[in-house]
Order: sequence, then structure tokens, then C-alpha cells
Amino acid sequence: MSATDQISIRVEPTKESRLSQVDFNNLKFGQIMSDHMLVAEYNDGEWTDISIQPYGDIAVSPSMSALHYGQAIFEGIKGYKFENGTVSIFRPDKNWERFNKSASRLQMPEVPEDIFLGGLKKLLDIDRNWIPSKEGTALYIRPFMFATEAALGVHPSISYKFIIITCPVGAYYSKPISLKVETHYTRAAEGGVGFSKNAGNYALSLYPTQLANDEGYDQIMWTDSAGHKYIEEAGTANLIFRIGDTIITPHGDTILHGVTRRTIMELAEKWGYKTEQRKVSVEELIEGIKNGTVTEAFAAGTAATITHIDRIGFHGQDYTLPPVEGREFSLKVLDYLNQLRYGKIEDPFGWNFIV
Ligand SMILES: *Cc1c(COP(=O)(O)O)cnc(C)c1O
Repeated sequence: MSATDQISIRVEPTKESRLSQVDFNNLKFGQIMSDHMLVAEYNDGEWTDISIQPYGDIAVSPSMSALHYGQAIFEGIKGYKFENGTVSIFRPDKNWERFNKSASRLQMPEVPEDIFLGGLKKLLDIDRNWIPSKEGTALYIRPFMFATEAALGVHPSISYKFIIITCPVGAYYSKPISLKVETHYTRAAEGGVGFSKNAGNYALSLYPTQLANDEGYDQIMWTDSAGHKYIEEAGTANLIFRIGDTIITPHGDTILHGVTRRTIMELAEKWGYKTEQRKVSVEELIEGIKNGTVTEAFAAGTAATITHIDRIGFHGQDYTLPPVEGREFSLKVLDYLNQLRYGKIEDPFGWNFIV
């Protein structure tokens, strides 16, 4: 990737690293940020002033347009450290592409490869001591962009900030989760912004998720806005099912096209499973659970890779899935990706982006 080395990035190193204050055996997700952040400014049609500087507060105007009109998008990526110290980021090119799709939909400028991927590489190189190496741990990477024009009035902002912050995260062993099929609230509609990782998509999910929590479910299974008949995705993860011998995932522009989902479907194909990306109705899923053809169901996302689903609630009725121990496909995926991302096996797909 030659384009990643072209721009000049000013580096202002921290005078006082916070590294020694961090207990790497006790990391709470998203609480402690690494020493540095990358910041780039967009003004009048141009990206300027790209720097890596100490992580810290930034000043914003109360009339800053992102706060009022919501031009704000983000990404979630993970970086890993191999046993030999090599630092690797998992498929960040896919996040870069998706970031720019989100940007276009929200009438924001695209971020060029040398700033997004080149900046990321340089940032992780500088903060490489922040990347934990124990199996299951990682550096969570959060690139984001928001509109900074200090003016009221609904129009595309003339200025933006692109920032990358990172935080070390501990091993993530998630318990199986329960999902409530949502038949009233809607996450995304045809022609809307469901495929983009924009901040507003998460704000709208909080209230219905709280209602589901109050009923004893961990998360929502979103359904289509038109009839609540077809399954879309879970809170911040895509859904994948094994029905018979086929690995199936819902498809369409109302869902976020996850890098994990894509990776898992590519692996399934490579390993000779039948795969389908298509509409999956709630009815098909419930019937399949009842007659035993649905043998695996999981949420797929960067945070946990795979989170098994053990219970699905639909119209007040609960449907229980087979025990996790027998879930051959999802357990195989998890094991394979764990080895690949820590450099323990060969990387035939070129998914590891070495820093
Ligand atoms: C980020 C996200 C996902 C998962 O995407 P990955 O690229 O696999 O992390 C799925 N759904 C939503 C709504 C998301 O925000």
C-alpha cells in the first residue's frame, strides 16, 4: 500500500505517557485511551494540518453543526500484537471504504487513503506499547468524523474534523445473548441511512433497547420497517444463521455491512458451506428453531467477533436455540480468526494489515 506513506503527518509526542498507570489485566472497554490521537482538519474543500498529538480534550463551538444536525460518522477496527511483537490491523481497508460510503450519504467529504490508513499505521506505530498481546486482547480503534462549522442552519458544513483515537481492550468472552424481535420500532428504512455508521443510528436504538432489556432480553433483533416481517440485524452486530447446511445472513441497504459478517461469509464459502445473502423472515427462523433445522445463530461484529444467541423472543413467546457446544461452524470460525489475527497461522487472504 504505497499511497499510505505520501502525506506529511506532524508528530507532537506526549511529554508524559500514561502507560504506566494502566492495569492491562483489568481493562474496561472504551474507558482508557492510548497516549496519542490523529487529527486532520477539512476546510474549504481540502484536508489540511494532519497531526498526531497527545490524546486530550478539544474545544468546539456551541454552534458546531454536528451537535445540531448530526453530520457525524465513525468506524470500529481492531489491532493485534503477535507473539513476536508484530502489530497488525484486521482488514482496515474495508473500514476505510465503508467510512467513505457513510461520508457520501451524509454529504461529508471522503477521507483519502493516506490519511485514513496511512495515519492509522503511523498512530499505531507510535502507540505500539499500548497494544496488549495476550490472546483475546486487542487495541480498539475508533476513527470518526464530524461537522465543525460554527453556524446554525441546515446545510452541509464547510469544515470537518477527522480523528482517530484508540484504546486497549481486554479479552472479550461474551455469554450467549437473548434477542427480542422488534415489531414496533424501526432502525432503518429503504432509502434511509441504515448502511452507514452514523451517530444517529445508535441514538435511536437506545430507547427500544431499554424496553427490551426491561422485558429480560439483552438486545433487539431489528426487522424491516415496512412490515416487521424480515430480520435485519442486532444492536451493533449483524446476524448470521445456520439453517440446515446453509450459512445465511440478511442482506440489503437497511443493514450495516459489517466487516466481520463479510469475513465469516467468505470463510464459509471457502470451507465449502453453502452460503446465502437474502431476506430471512422471522417466520422462517421461528419455524426452523421449532423443527430443529436452525442449529446456529449468532451476532457478528468487531467487538466480540461472534456472540452466540441462545434465546429469541417473539410476541411474548420464547424460542430456545441448541446448546453452544454443538455449534460446529461458529466455533470453527472463532478459533480460525483467533489464530489468524495473532499471526499464529498463515494469512492466505491478506487480511492482516501489518504496521
Ligand atoms: C459496526 C456495526 C456492525 C458490525 O460491523 P463490523 O464491521 O463487523 O464491526 C453491525 N451492525 C451495526 C449496526 C454496526 O454499527
